[in-house]
Amino acid sequence: MSNQFWKFANNSIAISKDRHEYRETPFFSRFEHKGGYIMMGYPFGLSGKWYDAVKTDQLTIFHEYFHAIQRMYENHPQAPPDQPDKFDGPDWMKEGLAVYMSEYTVGLLRSIGALEHMRKPIYETEEEYRSYAAIDAALMANLDDIEVLKKEHPGISLKTSGSAWESNAPYVYGAWAAAYLSHIAGKEAFIDKYYPAIDQVGWKQAFKQAFGMSIEDFYAEFNQFMKQPLEVLEDFLNS
Ligand SMILES: [Zn+2]
Repeated sequence: MSNQFWKFANNSIAISKDRHEYRETPFFSRFEHKGGYIMMGYPFGLSGKWYDAVKTDQLTIFHEYFHAIQRMYENHPQAPPDQPDKFDGPDWMKEGLAVYMSEYTVGLLRSIGALEHMRKPIYETEEEYRSYAAIDAALMANLDDIEVLKKEHPGISLKTSGSAWESNAPYVYGAWAAAYLSHIAGKEAFIDKYYPAIDQVGWKQAFKQAFGMSIEDFYAEFNQFMKQPLEVLEDFLNS
């Protein structure tokens, strides 16, 4: 995992535990590169002070922070007029990766005790509470959302998952795509290879360099992968 992402996690946890909850404390973390930043109010989920420091709050912080990292590299000022999206990745990559990285990071930080669980699972059933342990559970739950999407939009796929403004398709397909790609190239490849290369060569070529195949080949391979039975997908996550 990128140093920058972990540094943010550790700093934010330390700061949130250090501040009084009634003081107005905007959290503002600068990046080493120009362009990305995050501002937030008191990060309930990091402080471990309340029962409602639930996972969703923790996830939201890491999800939005991951977008800030992505923004450092996207929206290149010199996109050619005929390729306005040359430097932008698709929404499934933006949202799916933010979902995947935040689920992975929060799960890991919870498992080593760096981020706290609710002390009493008062808003969550015992079962939900336990299922929060790992990203794999979140990805398996996504498969239910994919079934619903397929009924609403027959023939939908990662490639046609569309805009994050329109549906949750880029989130649920994208999270699985991020899991699949990280099995190929490792979690580091996104921040260390893919995003830095976007700036020079555009997202499609950056994808090829980071993951060793064209985006069209990946769409085809990923479609076949997602057609497999539930048990096979579950085994993949455990592999
Ligand atoms: Zn998002």
